[in-house]
Amino acid sequence: MSECVLCGRTFSPKLSLARLVSLTKIKRSLICPQCFAGFEKITYANACWGCGRKQSGRTLCKDCRRWQQKGYELLENKACYVYDEPHMKKYFACYKFTGDYQLGTVFQTDMRQQLEWYLKRKWLLVVIPVDEETYQKRGFNQVCGLLPQVKLNSYLRHRQKMGRKKQSHKNRQERLQVPQPFSYVGPMDLKQQNILLLDDIYTTGSTLYHASALLHEHNSGKIKSVTLAR
Ligand SMILES: [Zn+2]
Ligand SMILES: [Zn+2]
Repeated sequence: MSECVLCGRTFSPKLSLARLVSLTKIKRSLICPQCFAGFEKITYANACWGCGRKQSGRTLCKDCRRWQQKGYELLENKACYVYDEPHMKKYFACYKFTGDYQLGTVFQTDMRQQLEWYLKRKWLLVVIPVDEETYQKRGFNQVCGLLPQVKLNSYLRHRQKMGRKKQSHKNRQERLQVPQPFSYVGPMDLKQQNILLLDDIYTTGSTLYHASALLHEHNSGKIKSVTLAR
C-alpha cells in the first residue's frame, strides 16, 4: 500500500512487470490514480503555438501576439500539462514549496518526450536557474529534478538582489516589468548553437523571454522552450 502524496488516500499501486523494470513508472506510485487522472494533459492540436497554452485549435493567443509586437521571436513553448487546475497546483506546492525531491521524477517520461525532437537535432539544453536563497532552502533546482538523467547546462545565474520579491508572490503586471533577472555565465560565443530552454512553469513568459534575450546577446542560434506546465 502507498499513501498518495497529494490527497493522502491509501492505494495499492499496480506494479506490472513492465513497471517493475522501469524505475520511472514506480515513482508514479507516489500519486494515486484518481489524482493522476485529474492532471490535464495539453495536446499539440489544442495549444497556442507560441506558449503551449491549452485552447481550442492551434492558433496564437493574445499574450503571444503581444510578445511578437514587442519584437521577440516566439519561443514556441511546449508544455505537458495545464497549471491552473487544483491537481497540478497541489503537485507544485508539494514539489517546490515543501521540497519533496522525489516528486520531480513523476513526470520525467512526459518531459523526455518533449525533448526528443531537439536532442536528435543536437540542440543544447539550458536550464532556468533558481535564486540562491530558494536553492539553499529547497536544496535543489526543481527544473533539474524533472529530468534527473539528462545533461542540463547552467549558463544563467540569478542576479543577487536583497529583498527581491519571489516570482510566485508577484502579480502579473509586476512580473512583466521586472528588469533582466539573470546574468550570463556560459561560453562567450555560442556560435549559433540552437538552444532549448527548460523551466517548470510558463506563467507570463517573462522569465523565459529574459533568458532568451541574454542568450541571443551571446550569439545563440534559434531558441525554443519546454515546460512541464502552462
Ligand atoms: Zn491522490
Ligand atoms: Zn500563447
